[in-house]
Amino acid sequence: MNKETTQIVKELLASPQKIVIVGHKNPDGDAVGSCLGLSFFLKSLGHNATVIMPNDFPDFLKWLPGVEEIIIYEREKEKSTDLINTSDLVFTLDFNGLDRVGGELQTVLESCSAKFVMIDHHQQPADYAVATYSDVKMSSTSEMVFHFMDALGEANKLSKEIAINLYTGIMTDTGSFRFSSTSPTTHRVAAKLIEAGAESAIINQYVYDTNSPERMKLLGVALNNLVILPELHTAYITMTQKELDDHNFKKGDTEGFVNYALSVKGVVFAVIFIENKQENIVKISLRSKGHFSVNDFARNHYSGGGHINAAGGKSSQDLNKTINEFISILPRYKNELTDAS
Ligand code: 5GP
Ligand code: MN
Repeated sequence: MNKETTQIVKELLASPQKIVIVGHKNPDGDAVGSCLGLSFFLKSLGHNATVIMPNDFPDFLKWLPGVEEIIIYEREKEKSTDLINTSDLVFTLDFNGLDRVGGELQTVLESCSAKFVMIDHHQQPADYAVATYSDVKMSSTSEMVFHFMDALGEANKLSKEIAINLYTGIMTDTGSFRFSSTSPTTHRVAAKLIEAGAESAIINQYVYDTNSPERMKLLGVALNNLVILPELHTAYITMTQKELDDHNFKKGDTEGFVNYALSVKGVVFAVIFIENKQENIVKISLRSKGHFSVNDFARNHYSGGGHINAAGGKSSQDLNKTINEFISILPRYKNELTDAS
């Protein structure tokens, strides 16, 4: 975090503040871990901090320290709105624009009088905060929360609760320290978090070894639905609402499926299309290897965004149309895909 932003934040936090911390819609490990980690930190400085998530998050995160205090906007709209309207500061974590929290909550945030602080590592950050700590080179927002504490001269406040939350966020957002965003500094931060009480083996077990039998069967369906387009170095997976329903789908069950498509030799671009009849959309997750930008692809075709190698978006057409359109767009990218492979 640069000196100017650090100074602004120090001034904002100079006296006890009422603070709300918000993560993005469909919160992942980094969103939940960074928000909870920051919440424990701000409380340790004497502030009043509450975490609000737009909607529910996967069960494999529901053991995190402090998770029971998270307020889900979709379930407690009035309480959330009151909290936001009476807060001095709103920290927005792990997203780059207020549209990422979903319609209604976006309006509440846009009309409140609190000052905003953004901590985020996505590309193209919006300009709504009085202090914007944005760094697209960072592995995760959770790593950034660690640097945030350090910049404020408060690294000694790193407790076991903070360490577990931040470690979980870093671990999940880097695909267990595999993605290219994992830097030597990421490993140094992880080491400090382990020293502060984040037990890596136990965290791995809670996050990765708690699959339901239905989820494993659903993975079988996904792998069966995998389509590989060798000339385009692309692979994609489709999931219909019926396939999800037949396997008692729960939030988070399809997390990571797209990585199996990317793991195919020669594939540099992988996509999963997931039908969501309730929202009347197809949710799309995109991944790539090397310099093929799925952030650009998601922005250009799916009203989405993210990072160079991991992005998301949605389509309001039905699943078949979405796939047909995808297949018709792809040849335009043939050169780029071939170069990246
Ligand atoms: P995932 O595919 O795991 O949902 O998300 C991959 C990355 O893209 C994450 O960093 C996530 O925040 C971002 N992302 C996912 N969906 C969307 C979306 O609809 N819009 C934007 N701008 N980013 C998204
Ligand atoms: Mn993240």
